[in-house]
Amino acid sequence: MAATIIDGKEVSATMRTELAAKTAELKSKHGLIPGIGVILVGEDPASKSYVKSKEKTADQLGFYSKTLRVPVETTEAEVLRMVDDLNRDPKIHGILVQLPLPSHINENAVIYAIDPKKDVDGFHPVNIGKLHMGEDCFIPCTPHGVLELLDRTGVELKGKNVTVVGRSNIVGKPVSMLLLSRHATVTICHSRTADLVGECRRADVLVAAVGRAKMIKADMIKPGAVVIDVGVNRTEEGKLVGDVDFEAAANVASAITPVPGGVGPMTIAMLMKNTVLAAERTL
Ligand code: NAP
Repeated sequence: MAATIIDGKEVSATMRTELAAKTAELKSKHGLIPGIGVILVGEDPASKSYVKSKEKTADQLGFYSKTLRVPVETTEAEVLRMVDDLNRDPKIHGILVQLPLPSHINENAVIYAIDPKKDVDGFHPVNIGKLHMGEDCFIPCTPHGVLELLDRTGVELKGKNVTVVGRSNIVGKPVSMLLLSRHATVTICHSRTADLVGECRRADVLVAAVGRAKMIKADMIKPGAVVIDVGVNRTEEGKLVGDVDFEAAANVASAITPVPGGVGPMTIAMLMKNTVLAAERTL
């Protein structure tokens, strides 16, 4: 294997240490404790486990946290009321509504109700608009985690060809905007892209955010490229794999993120970073 492994576990652990120190400083200098409010509707096992990890990390960092767990039959009006309560709560600086919500609740209506100043997930249209305008905003956590990994690995983006495979609102589009803001030349691919192999082969930095196990093969990677794999897929044997055929790709790329242990651990770290930022902005 030639490629350097970009270790998201290590980077996120470093970030947690930095954020714990920052939190202690905010507390001692300003009496300010970053607060995060989480709403979990229903019993989806993956959502429950994500919320638990977020609570645990918030506790470890010294945050104030409040998790509202409500049954699946909770109405949209009740969820909107909970969002409003968190919007008004001065101890809460960041609000996170765990997605997906049950189908009887309009997700956009709930996201739009979050105060953009507390929207630490970065999904509110005000924050998305500001991201596109290059203004200061809350950046969605997974795309922000990708950028943080590239920065901490010392990857130069200016003038580089970057190909992003995937155009979702949560990953593909915002990560493309972030990379564009760093002066990369960005190509966004999707299910109707005519020459996916060619677009990938031109990339100095390739970001895969599709959700299809091992679809990016070694022969789609330019020798020496940096490969960031956002995909999380479970094989029939129950193993977690990314969108990139990791073992083969690692012989061609110069640096690559593994799955698990690459982009995944960065998402919660960036959520905590956004919450500290939201708290600081109240000073
Ligand atoms: P998504 O909303 O399903 O979007 C997938 C994108 O891939 C779409 O834009 C789709 O194109 C494109 N696509 C599908 N098949 C393709 C093909 N054969 N060739 C080229 N493009 C294709 O998924 P997402 O929410 O962005 O998530 C992507 C992956 O990242 C998933 O595996 C997800 O689990 C993972 N993820 C990980 C984290 C984390 O690590 N913390 C966070 C979020 C997501 P169209 O638009 O044309 O349909």
